[in-house]
Amino acid sequence: MSSHTGFVYHEKFLEHDTGAGHPENAERLKAIVNRLKECGLWKQLQHLIIDEAEQNWLLRVHTNEHLKYLKQACKQNLRTVDQGDTQVSAESYNAAILAAGGAITATDAVMSGLLKNAFCAVRPPGHHAERDKAMGFCLLNNAAICARYAQVKSGAERIAILDWDVHHGNGTQHIFYDDKSVLYISTHQFPFYPGTGSRGERGVGNGEGYTLNIPMFAGSGEIEFLEVFKEQIIPSLNNFCPDLLIISAGFDAHKDDPLGNLQLTEDSFGIFTELLMDTCENLCGGRIVSVLEGGYNMKALSASVEAHIRTLIS
Ligand SMILES: [Zn+2]
Repeated sequence: MSSHTGFVYHEKFLEHDTGAGHPENAERLKAIVNRLKECGLWKQLQHLIIDEAEQNWLLRVHTNEHLKYLKQACKQNLRTVDQGDTQVSAESYNAAILAAGGAITATDAVMSGLLKNAFCAVRPPGHHAERDKAMGFCLLNNAAICARYAQVKSGAERIAILDWDVHHGNGTQHIFYDDKSVLYISTHQFPFYPGTGSRGERGVGNGEGYTLNIPMFAGSGEIEFLEVFKEQIIPSLNNFCPDLLIISAGFDAHKDDPLGNLQLTEDSFGIFTELLMDTCENLCGGRIVSVLEGGYNMKALSASVEAHIRTLIS
């Protein structure tokens, strides 16, 4: 049975090798793929054929120096590309540009009306990557690249990015901080890594008011999140009226995640997905591109992705 939901995955993403014991590893995607096959959703998804992102799309978000640095670091087998936790291997740059390219393909399919929504099971993740900086396991900011692509290629004016990863997406905030055409909304544990994301960070210049940070205390769960959706996220999306919603879909706010201290369950992600789909239906015909960010407990991650996709496909 076919559906209106696209899916992006490629074995090349497994070749981004972060070294022994690293939480952001290839097993994450293997767990997702296995789970989707086991539960039968795999056969219902529209599997997109993807290619590496063209340099010009990467340059809409990142500096040429950043791209050169990453490429060189992989070529020279430097292991670390930031202060410590962002590891690379020889194939990491190629995996990263394929991840960005996959997200672009999904955006294209959704913006053209070929598909209604899509999930991108990609790695390396992206939301900590700033214009000129790799950080927090992230090399290229996939969600930001999709946003710019949708604006330039598909003529979308306003893009909303909702980031429910347990960590604040400092990179995405940084890239669009002075830009009123991209609304960045983030729920995250706070105070927590990477330290940014306080309520007072609201954007600057033309972008003032177009960054909405919703810090959550450690221990917060579905009840607190549902209140935030009702009181802040949905009204803010309705106000902004996006042409496309991008979800920076990290699943490390799950209660079993080893890196975070929030209390969501896999079902929570299904409920949030439904709320967003209902909201977007009226605003932009339900156009949603969801891009994987964090999530480090294999069982929690794969169950959460299943709940998310089961709802997207419905
Ligand atoms: Zn995270």
